[in-house]
Amino acid sequence: MLDVVIIGGGPAGMTAGIYAARAGFKTMILETGAPGGQASTTETIENYPGFPGGISGPELMMKFYEQTINFGVEMEFAHVESLELTGPVKKVKAGDNIYETRSVIIASGARPRVLGVQGEAKFRGKGVSYCATCDGFFFKDKEVAVIGGGDTAVEEALYLTKICSKVYLIHRRDKLRATQILQDRAMKNEKIEFIWDTVVDEITGDDKLNGLSLHNVKTQKKFKLNIDGVFIFVGYIPNSDYLPREVEIDERGYVITDVELRTNVAGVYAIGDVRQKNLRQVATAVGDGALAITTLERDFAK
Ligand SMILES: Cc1cc2nc3c(=O)[nH]c(=O)nc-3n(C[C@H](O)[C@H](O)[C@H](O)COP(=O)(O)OP(=O)(O)OC[C@H]3O[C@@H](n4cnc5c(N)ncnc54)[C@H](O)[C@@H]3O)c2cc1C
Repeated sequence: MLDVVIIGGGPAGMTAGIYAARAGFKTMILETGAPGGQASTTETIENYPGFPGGISGPELMMKFYEQTINFGVEMEFAHVESLELTGPVKKVKAGDNIYETRSVIIASGARPRVLGVQGEAKFRGKGVSYCATCDGFFFKDKEVAVIGGGDTAVEEALYLTKICSKVYLIHRRDKLRATQILQDRAMKNEKIEFIWDTVVDEITGDDKLNGLSLHNVKTQKKFKLNIDGVFIFVGYIPNSDYLPREVEIDERGYVITDVELRTNVAGVYAIGDVRQKNLRQVATAVGDGALAITTLERDFAK
């Protein structure tokens, strides 16, 4: 019988692991792949404090992993398929094992939806980004494109205008889906140029990304655009499909929590990118991991 099972070994899950072990809880992290989650897929992280020169994502995540293991947290590499959450003893099924635990922390993160075009995988982290807050700074005074037409795409395009010399906003329709206030701000911003009714066929470059091959879906006209970077915001998918129905999620699949990170199910908490929140970053994932364990400690003491 475990005290805490943490689903996901990204920055949120590993931080929760460290706090849980230090609080004396018998803790297990279950992780599908390698530890580190999304943060280990990025070349450089410049906005996580403590590393004034920046640090590579995999290196930072290896440090998290070492610290987690040093505190005696067990991590098993297994994919959680289903959960039974009713009653005081929760059951977590992963591979051939069923783990019994007093509490469950959902830390399974999220993933950016990809465009699926040629060049996207090749230049990921080398000109192709899914996060303006993370990577915008690498494109200071450069020309970039943003793909998408929803709130996130427009918000991120506006953010990028503070850093980049020009931002092309490329959308497959002839109007944006974003809320009116964001649309108005984007329309007024002189650094943003809209390219309507257009989709990306290929992200081009040799060693370095240098542009996009595009086509207009109404006229079928093909054309090229020279840019230094492309930011793709065509959706973000929370890894919450394995959760049972009783865990409340929003319309996009993000787990809903209270301010102390409890879900609607007693003894079940959600942290990091998988939960409904405004900013998905390593720093906020870490904060969630720490807070959830202090909430859990108080709940155990009741
Ligand atoms: C390309 C890229 C660059 C980024 N750059 C930065 C940056 O510079 N600075 C910054 O602060 N943030 C950055 N981010 C965001 C940051 O990586 C995330 O906010 C952070 O990793 C979220 O942590 P998490 O632990 O909540 O989730 P994740 O990192 O998504 O980790 C979740 C983990 O859960 C595992 N998992 C999922 N489902 C299951 C299951 N059913 N069973 C077991 N395990 C499961 C996954 O394998 C994964 O390892 C970047 C993100 C991306 C994609």
